[in-house]
Amino acid sequence: MARATTAHIHIDALRHNLAVVRARAPHAKVMAVVKADGYGHGLERVAHALAGADGFGVAALSDAQRLRAAGFSQKILLLSGFDEPADLEQLRQLDVDTVVHHRTQLDMLAADHGSPLKVWLKMDSGMHRLGFAPADFAAAHARLRALPNVAADIVCMSHLASSEDTGSPQTAEQLRTFGDHLPPSAAASIANSAGILIWPEAHRQWLRAGGALYGLAVGEGKTGADFGLRPAMTLSTRLISVQTVAKCERIGYSGIYTCPEDMPVGVAAIGYGDGYPRVIRPGTPVLLNGRRVPIIGRVSMDLMTLDLRGQPEAAVGDPVVLWGEGLPVEEVAAAAGTISYELTCSITRRVRFVEA
Ligand SMILES: *Cc1c(COP(=O)(O)O)cnc(C)c1O
Repeated sequence: MARATTAHIHIDALRHNLAVVRARAPHAKVMAVVKADGYGHGLERVAHALAGADGFGVAALSDAQRLRAAGFSQKILLLSGFDEPADLEQLRQLDVDTVVHHRTQLDMLAADHGSPLKVWLKMDSGMHRLGFAPADFAAAHARLRALPNVAADIVCMSHLASSEDTGSPQTAEQLRTFGDHLPPSAAASIANSAGILIWPEAHRQWLRAGGALYGLAVGEGKTGADFGLRPAMTLSTRLISVQTVAKCERIGYSGIYTCPEDMPVGVAAIGYGDGYPRVIRPGTPVLLNGRRVPIIGRVSMDLMTLDLRGQPEAAVGDPVVLWGEGLPVEEVAAAAGTISYELTCSITRRVRFVEA
Protein backbone atom coordinates (compact mmCIF):
# COMPACT_ATOMS: atom_id res chain seq x y z
CA MET A 1 0.00 0.00 0.00
CA ALA A 2 1.19 3.53 -0.73
CA ARG A 3 2.37 5.62 2.15
CA ALA A 4 -0.59 7.59 3.51
CA THR A 5 1.21 10.92 3.75
CA THR A 6 -0.76 13.31 1.55
CA ALA A 7 -0.99 17.01 0.82
CA HIS A 8 -4.50 17.87 -0.29
CA ILE A 9 -4.54 21.09 -2.27
CA HIS A 10 -7.89 22.86 -2.11
CA ILE A 11 -8.59 24.45 -5.48
CA ASP A 12 -11.72 26.19 -4.16
CA ALA A 13 -9.73 27.75 -1.33
CA LEU A 14 -7.17 29.16 -3.79
CA ARG A 15 -10.01 30.71 -5.84
CA HIS A 16 -11.74 32.01 -2.73
CA ASN A 17 -8.51 33.62 -1.51
CA LEU A 18 -7.96 35.30 -4.87
CA ALA A 19 -11.49 36.74 -4.58
CA VAL A 20 -10.69 38.00 -1.06
CA VAL A 21 -7.59 39.74 -2.38
CA ARG A 22 -9.52 41.27 -5.30
CA ALA A 23 -12.27 42.50 -2.99
CA ARG A 24 -9.69 44.42 -0.95
CA ALA A 25 -8.60 46.45 -3.98
CA PRO A 26 -11.16 46.08 -6.78
CA HIS A 27 -9.35 48.51 -9.08
CA ALA A 28 -5.90 47.00 -8.82
CA LYS A 29 -4.45 44.20 -10.90
CA VAL A 30 -3.38 41.07 -9.07
CA MET A 31 -0.11 39.32 -9.70
CA ALA A 32 -0.32 35.86 -8.17
CA VAL A 33 3.11 35.04 -6.80
CA VAL A 34 3.78 31.36 -7.52
CA LYS A 35 7.49 31.15 -6.78
CA ALA A 36 8.98 28.12 -5.01
CA ASP A 37 6.56 25.77 -6.76
CA GLY A 38 3.56 27.84 -5.71
CA TYR A 39 4.74 28.10 -2.08
CA GLY A 40 5.01 24.31 -2.12
CA HIS A 41 1.48 23.70 -3.44
CA GLY A 42 2.56 22.80 -6.99
CA LEU A 43 3.21 25.40 -9.69
CA GLU A 44 0.94 24.27 -12.53
CA ARG A 45 -1.83 23.19 -10.17
CA VAL A 46 -1.85 26.57 -8.45
CA ALA A 47 -1.63 28.46 -11.73
CA HIS A 48 -4.69 26.61 -13.05
CA ALA A 49 -6.63 27.45 -9.90
CA LEU A 50 -5.51 31.08 -10.05
CA ALA A 51 -5.81 31.50 -13.80
CA GLY A 52 -8.13 34.45 -13.10
CA ALA A 53 -5.20 36.50 -11.80
CA ASP A 54 -3.74 39.21 -14.05
CA GLY A 55 -0.28 37.72 -13.96
CA PHE A 56 2.11 35.34 -12.24
CA GLY A 57 5.25 36.20 -10.31
CA VAL A 58 8.12 33.68 -10.38
CA ALA A 59 11.66 33.64 -9.01
CA ALA A 60 13.25 31.51 -11.73
CA LEU A 61 13.15 31.52 -15.52
CA SER A 62 12.61 27.75 -15.36
CA ASP A 63 9.27 28.40 -13.63
CA ALA A 64 8.29 30.82 -16.40
CA GLN A 65 9.21 28.13 -18.89
CA ARG A 66 7.00 25.60 -17.10
CA LEU A 67 4.06 27.99 -17.08
CA ARG A 68 4.38 28.75 -20.81
CA ALA A 69 4.81 25.03 -21.58
CA ALA A 70 1.57 24.39 -19.68
CA GLY A 71 -0.17 26.89 -21.94
CA PHE A 72 -0.51 29.92 -19.66
CA SER A 73 -0.56 33.15 -21.62
CA GLN A 74 -0.89 35.56 -18.69
CA LYS A 75 1.74 38.14 -17.89
CA ILE A 76 4.68 36.59 -16.03
CA LEU A 77 7.16 38.62 -13.98
CA LEU A 78 10.63 37.38 -13.07
CA LEU A 79 10.78 38.81 -9.55
CA SER A 80 14.51 38.92 -9.00
CA GLY A 81 15.35 39.81 -12.56
CA PHE A 82 17.87 38.41 -15.02
CA ASP A 83 21.44 37.41 -14.18
CA GLU A 84 23.25 37.42 -17.52
CA PRO A 85 22.84 38.63 -21.10
CA ALA A 86 21.74 35.18 -22.32
CA ASP A 87 18.68 35.46 -20.07
CA LEU A 88 17.39 38.38 -22.15
CA GLU A 89 16.77 36.17 -25.17
CA GLN A 90 14.84 33.74 -22.95
CA LEU A 91 12.75 36.58 -21.54
CA ARG A 92 11.83 37.52 -25.12
CA GLN A 93 11.12 33.99 -26.24
CA LEU A 94 8.90 33.35 -23.24
CA ASP A 95 7.40 36.87 -23.26
CA VAL A 96 8.30 37.40 -19.60
CA ASP A 97 8.52 40.77 -17.81
CA THR A 98 11.66 41.30 -15.76
CA VAL A 99 12.54 43.21 -12.64
CA VAL A 100 15.57 45.49 -12.92
CA HIS A 101 17.06 46.19 -9.52
CA HIS A 102 20.78 46.77 -10.11
CA ARG A 103 23.00 48.84 -12.36
CA THR A 104 24.74 45.75 -13.75
CA GLN A 105 21.36 44.90 -15.27
CA LEU A 106 21.10 48.40 -16.78
CA ASP A 107 24.52 47.86 -18.35
CA MET A 108 23.46 44.50 -19.80
CA LEU A 109 20.35 46.09 -21.26
CA ALA A 110 22.37 48.95 -22.74
CA ALA A 111 24.62 46.42 -24.51
CA ASP A 112 21.65 44.46 -25.87
CA HIS A 113 19.92 45.22 -29.17
CA GLY A 114 16.87 42.98 -29.25
CA SER A 115 13.16 43.76 -29.30
CA PRO A 116 11.63 45.74 -26.40
CA LEU A 117 11.48 43.99 -23.02
CA LYS A 118 8.90 44.79 -20.36
CA VAL A 119 10.60 46.04 -17.25
CA TRP A 120 9.61 46.58 -13.62
CA LEU A 121 12.12 48.94 -12.03
CA LYS A 122 12.72 48.26 -8.38
CA MET A 123 13.36 50.84 -5.70
CA ASP A 124 14.94 50.03 -2.36
CA SER A 125 12.48 51.97 -0.20
CA GLY A 126 14.03 50.74 3.05
CA MET A 127 14.23 46.95 3.11
CA HIS A 128 17.83 47.02 1.86
CA ARG A 129 17.67 43.81 -0.07
CA LEU A 130 17.16 44.59 -3.77
CA GLY A 131 16.60 47.84 -5.62
CA PHE A 132 17.96 51.26 -6.55
CA ALA A 133 18.39 53.77 -3.77
CA PRO A 134 15.60 56.37 -3.86
CA ALA A 135 18.09 59.09 -4.80
CA ASP A 136 19.23 57.05 -7.84
CA PHE A 137 15.80 55.92 -8.95
CA ALA A 138 14.89 58.77 -11.30
CA ALA A 139 18.20 58.43 -13.14
CA ALA A 140 17.77 54.67 -13.51
CA HIS A 141 14.24 55.26 -14.79
CA ALA A 142 15.43 57.87 -17.29
CA ARG A 143 18.20 55.56 -18.49
CA LEU A 144 15.70 52.75 -19.11
CA ARG A 145 13.30 55.12 -20.87
CA ALA A 146 16.04 56.06 -23.31
CA LEU A 147 16.78 52.46 -24.33
CA PRO A 148 15.08 51.27 -27.53
CA ASN A 149 15.04 47.67 -26.21
CA VAL A 150 12.93 48.60 -23.17
CA ALA A 151 9.16 49.00 -23.56
CA ALA A 152 7.83 52.42 -22.59
CA ASP A 153 5.37 51.38 -19.86
CA ILE A 154 7.83 50.67 -17.05
CA VAL A 155 6.21 49.66 -13.75
CA CYS A 156 7.87 51.06 -10.63
CA MET A 157 7.98 48.64 -7.72
CA SER A 158 9.33 48.17 -4.25
CA HIS A 159 8.97 45.60 -1.46
CA LEU A 160 7.80 46.00 2.14
CA ALA A 161 9.93 44.63 4.97
CA SER A 162 7.53 44.67 7.94
CA SER A 163 4.05 44.87 6.47
CA GLU A 164 2.69 42.13 8.77
CA ASP A 165 3.61 44.22 11.81
CA THR A 166 0.89 46.81 12.38
CA GLY A 167 2.92 48.34 15.21
CA SER A 168 6.01 49.03 13.14
CA PRO A 169 6.57 52.50 11.67
CA GLN A 170 8.61 50.97 8.83
CA THR A 171 5.73 50.41 6.42
CA ALA A 172 4.52 54.01 6.60
CA GLU A 173 8.11 55.17 6.09
CA GLN A 174 8.60 52.89 3.09
CA LEU A 175 5.30 53.96 1.53
CA ARG A 176 6.30 57.61 1.91
CA THR A 177 9.77 57.05 0.44
CA PHE A 178 8.31 55.09 -2.47
CA GLY A 179 5.63 57.69 -3.21
CA ASP A 180 8.08 60.59 -2.95
CA HIS A 181 10.46 59.12 -5.53
CA LEU A 182 8.07 57.81 -8.17
CA PRO A 183 8.28 59.39 -11.59
CA PRO A 184 5.06 61.28 -12.46
CA SER A 185 2.20 59.03 -13.66
CA ALA A 186 4.23 55.80 -13.48
CA ALA A 187 2.34 52.59 -12.72
CA ALA A 188 3.42 51.31 -9.31
CA SER A 189 3.42 48.18 -7.16
CA ILE A 190 4.50 47.74 -3.54
CA ALA A 191 1.88 45.62 -1.73
CA ASN A 192 2.61 42.00 -0.85
CA SER A 193 -0.05 39.97 1.01
CA ALA A 194 0.14 41.85 4.29
CA GLY A 195 0.34 45.12 2.36
CA ILE A 196 -2.89 44.15 0.58
CA LEU A 197 -4.71 43.02 3.72
CA ILE A 198 -3.51 45.64 6.21
CA TRP A 199 -2.33 48.74 4.33
CA PRO A 200 -4.89 50.05 1.78
CA GLU A 201 -2.61 53.00 1.01
CA ALA A 202 -0.10 50.47 -0.39
CA HIS A 203 -2.44 49.13 -3.07
CA ARG A 204 -1.46 51.15 -6.18
CA GLN A 205 -1.91 49.63 -9.70
CA TRP A 206 -0.50 46.16 -9.12
CA LEU A 207 -0.80 43.92 -6.08
CA ARG A 208 1.70 41.11 -5.64
CA ALA A 209 -0.09 38.45 -3.62
CA GLY A 210 1.69 35.34 -2.43
CA GLY A 211 0.90 33.89 0.98
CA ALA A 212 -2.65 35.26 1.13
CA LEU A 213 -3.61 33.23 -1.94
CA TYR A 214 -2.57 30.07 -0.13
CA GLY A 215 -4.49 31.13 2.97
CA LEU A 216 -1.30 31.88 4.89
CA ALA A 217 -0.80 34.76 7.26
CA VAL A 218 2.30 36.13 8.87
CA GLY A 219 2.45 38.19 12.02
CA GLU A 220 2.24 37.45 15.71
CA GLY A 221 -0.73 35.22 16.53
CA LYS A 222 -2.47 35.73 13.18
CA THR A 223 -3.92 33.06 10.93
CA GLY A 224 -5.33 33.29 7.43
CA ALA A 225 -8.82 32.87 8.87
CA ASP A 226 -8.43 36.23 10.66
CA PHE A 227 -8.48 37.78 7.18
CA GLY A 228 -11.26 35.61 5.73
CA LEU A 229 -8.78 33.33 3.95
CA ARG A 230 -9.04 29.57 3.68
CA PRO A 231 -6.09 27.16 3.93
CA ALA A 232 -5.12 25.83 0.50
CA MET A 233 -3.26 22.84 1.92
CA THR A 234 -4.18 20.03 4.29
CA LEU A 235 -1.27 17.81 5.23
CA SER A 236 -2.41 14.45 6.51
CA THR A 237 -1.45 10.86 7.16
CA ARG A 238 -2.71 7.87 9.17
CA LEU A 239 -1.98 6.07 12.40
CA ILE A 240 0.06 2.96 11.68
CA SER A 241 0.50 1.72 15.25
CA VAL A 242 -1.18 1.96 18.65
CA GLN A 243 0.51 0.40 21.67
CA THR A 244 0.35 0.69 25.42
CA VAL A 245 3.63 1.85 26.90
CA ALA A 246 4.34 1.40 30.61
CA LYS A 247 4.86 4.13 33.17
CA CYS A 248 8.47 5.46 33.26
CA GLU A 249 9.33 4.06 29.81
CA ARG A 250 10.84 6.55 27.39
CA ILE A 251 9.59 7.22 23.86
CA GLY A 252 11.62 7.51 20.65
CA TYR A 253 15.13 8.79 19.84
CA SER A 254 17.07 10.07 22.83
CA GLY A 255 14.11 9.17 25.03
CA ILE A 256 13.11 12.79 25.52
CA TYR A 257 9.59 11.85 26.68
CA THR A 258 8.96 9.68 29.74
CA CYS A 259 5.50 8.17 30.16
CA PRO A 260 3.93 9.49 33.39
CA GLU A 261 1.63 6.45 33.55
CA ASP A 262 0.75 3.38 31.50
CA MET A 263 -0.60 5.00 28.37
CA PRO A 264 -1.61 4.44 24.76
CA VAL A 265 0.95 5.76 22.26
CA GLY A 266 0.16 6.16 18.58
CA VAL A 267 2.55 6.33 15.65
CA ALA A 268 1.68 8.47 12.62
CA ALA A 269 3.36 7.92 9.25
CA ILE A 270 4.96 11.31 8.80
CA GLY A 271 8.29 12.83 9.81
CA TYR A 272 10.92 15.33 8.79
CA GLY A 273 11.58 13.29 5.64
CA ASP A 274 8.15 14.50 4.54
CA GLY A 275 8.82 18.07 5.59
CA TYR A 276 7.30 18.09 9.06
CA PRO A 277 9.74 20.12 11.20
CA ARG A 278 11.93 18.06 13.52
CA VAL A 279 12.48 21.15 15.67
CA ILE A 280 8.79 21.26 16.63
CA ARG A 281 8.09 22.13 20.27
CA PRO A 282 7.06 18.98 22.21
CA GLY A 283 3.33 18.90 22.85
CA THR A 284 2.42 20.51 19.54
CA PRO A 285 -0.97 19.14 18.49
CA VAL A 286 -2.06 17.11 15.49
CA LEU A 287 -5.70 16.36 14.68
CA LEU A 288 -6.52 12.70 15.18
CA ASN A 289 -10.05 11.92 14.04
CA GLY A 290 -10.58 15.67 14.04
CA ARG A 291 -9.53 16.15 17.68
CA ARG A 292 -6.24 17.43 19.05
CA VAL A 293 -3.65 15.10 20.50
CA PRO A 294 -0.08 16.13 21.37
CA ILE A 295 3.14 14.96 19.73
CA ILE A 296 5.46 13.30 22.25
CA GLY A 297 9.11 12.37 21.77
CA ARG A 298 11.30 13.37 18.84
CA VAL A 299 9.86 13.62 15.36
CA SER A 300 11.89 11.15 13.32
CA MET A 301 12.41 10.90 9.56
CA ASP A 302 9.33 8.85 8.72
CA LEU A 303 7.32 8.77 11.92
CA MET A 304 6.06 10.69 14.90
CA THR A 305 4.66 9.49 18.21
CA LEU A 306 1.41 10.74 19.74
CA ASP A 307 -0.04 10.77 23.24
CA LEU A 308 -3.37 8.96 22.84
CA ARG A 309 -4.59 9.32 26.42
CA GLY A 310 -7.23 11.76 25.16
CA GLN A 311 -8.37 9.22 22.54
CA PRO A 312 -7.79 5.73 23.92
CA GLU A 313 -10.24 4.36 21.34
CA ALA A 314 -8.03 5.45 18.42
CA ALA A 315 -7.06 2.64 16.05
CA VAL A 316 -4.59 1.88 13.29
CA GLY A 317 -5.76 3.54 10.08
CA ASP A 318 -7.34 6.57 11.76
CA PRO A 319 -6.71 9.87 9.95
CA VAL A 320 -4.17 12.35 11.28
CA VAL A 321 -4.04 15.96 10.08
CA LEU A 322 -0.80 17.86 10.65
CA TRP A 323 -2.16 21.18 9.43
CA GLY A 324 -5.10 22.50 7.46
CA GLU A 325 -8.73 23.18 8.31
CA GLY A 326 -9.07 23.03 12.12
CA LEU A 327 -5.33 23.25 12.80
CA PRO A 328 -3.80 26.38 11.28
CA VAL A 329 -0.37 25.90 9.74
CA GLU A 330 0.53 29.22 11.38
CA GLU A 331 0.12 27.57 14.79
CA VAL A 332 2.38 24.68 13.82
CA ALA A 333 4.92 27.10 12.34
CA ALA A 334 5.01 29.12 15.54
CA ALA A 335 5.71 25.91 17.46
CA ALA A 336 8.63 25.29 15.08
CA GLY A 337 9.99 28.82 15.45
CA THR A 338 9.26 29.75 11.84
CA ILE A 339 6.48 31.06 9.59
CA SER A 340 3.83 29.10 7.71
CA TYR A 341 5.50 29.83 4.34
CA GLU A 342 8.55 27.78 5.28
CA LEU A 343 6.45 24.77 6.23
CA THR A 344 4.41 24.62 3.01
CA CYS A 345 7.59 25.18 0.96
CA SER A 346 9.34 22.33 2.75
CA ILE A 347 7.01 19.44 1.87
CA THR A 348 9.20 16.83 0.18
CA ARG A 349 8.74 14.87 -3.00
CA ARG A 350 7.63 11.63 -1.43
CA VAL A 351 4.42 13.27 -0.18
CA ARG A 352 1.53 12.53 -2.50
CA PHE A 353 -0.27 15.63 -3.79
CA VAL A 354 -4.00 15.39 -4.42
CA GLU A 355 -6.35 18.09 -5.61
CA ALA A 356 -9.39 18.42 -3.45
C1 LIG B 1 7.43 36.69 -2.61
C2 LIG B 1 7.18 38.07 -3.08
C3 LIG B 1 5.91 38.64 -2.98
C4 LIG B 1 4.75 37.96 -2.29
O1 LIG B 1 4.90 38.10 -0.90
P1 LIG B 1 3.76 37.55 0.10
O2 LIG B 1 4.13 38.13 1.41
O3 LIG B 1 3.84 36.08 0.09
O4 LIG B 1 2.47 38.05 -0.43
C5 LIG B 1 5.72 39.89 -3.51
N1 LIG B 1 6.73 40.57 -4.11
C6 LIG B 1 7.97 40.05 -4.21
C7 LIG B 1 9.05 40.84 -4.86
C8 LIG B 1 8.24 38.80 -3.69
O5 LIG B 1 9.47 38.30 -3.78
